[in-house]
This record gives sequence, structure tokens and C-alpha cells, in this order.
Amino acid sequence: MTTRLEGGCACGAVRYRLASKPMFVHCCHCKDCQRQTGSAFVLNAIIETDRIELLKGKPKPVRVPAGSGRVHDIYRCAKCQTALWSDYGGRPKLRFVRIGTLDNKRALKPDVHIFTRSKLPWVGLPKGARAFKVYYDMKKEWPAASLKRRQAILG
Ligand SMILES: [Zn+2]
Ligand SMILES: [Zn+2]
Repeated sequence: MTTRLEGGCACGAVRYRLASKPMFVHCCHCKDCQRQTGSAFVLNAIIETDRIELLKGKPKPVRVPAGSGRVHDIYRCAKCQTALWSDYGGRPKLRFVRIGTLDNKRALKPDVHIFTRSKLPWVGLPKGARAFKVYYDMKKEWPAASLKRRQAILG
């Protein structure tokens, strides 16, 4: 049985389906993500933009300042403003989908925890979780097939 990776915003105006599993999943504990979500961390599934099939509606980009100085557009439902995915760094072929918007939130889990230097002290990580104080070496952590997919769209 395949897991259907479908999701949407809070009001139902935007619905989407991921055509495949993502390349990689980040749980980011950085201060920007904490502020932008109003929570302890963000859950981002990294996937090709053309693997996000819009079933209903069309999220609108909202630009936020990024700590790195790179542009960051958060795509939100125009009606209820739920954040569905991000474009980090102005890379139109790559999206970071917020996995809390999936209907089945257990379908995907973090491959790595990043920026744990600002992880809130009461957030515990599972035993054996791959965690990094800041960032990590992509070539070491990503599966070869995912690196290939990334290279196919970013070159
Ligand atoms: Zn909505
Ligand atoms: Zn972050």
C-alpha cells in the first residue's frame, strides 16, 4: 500500500498532493523558523516544485527576511493564511513543504535535526536522531538518489 501524501490549508481552499516522497526532511530549530512559525521548530520536506500537484486553490508567496540574507518566500493560503511551503533562496524548482499540513502527519519524519544550538531545552530528540548544532554536509547525509534528484533541478 502506498501512502497518499495529500494535504491542505486550514480552511480547505488549498489542497495538494505530493507526487512522490520528498528528497529529504529537515526539522529546523533555528530562531528564524521559531519566529515564523510561532513554535519550537519547523518541519520541512524538500521536494521538486513540479512534484507538488495543486488539487485546489493556489497559495500566494509572502516574503520574509531571512537570517542568511537570502530571500525566503512563504506560500500561504490567500484566505486563511496557513503556510504550506517555502521557497528558500529564490529557487523556483525547489520547495520546502511544511509536513504539518499533510492529512497524515505521520507519513514523513525528520531525517535530520538542524540548528539544535537554538533548540528549546524542553524539546527532546529521539534516541539516534541525526542532529546538528548548525548545518550539515549534504553529501554525507542525503541518500544518493536524493542528491541526484536535487542535481537534476539545480545543476
Ligand atoms: Zn485556507
Ligand atoms: Zn530554520
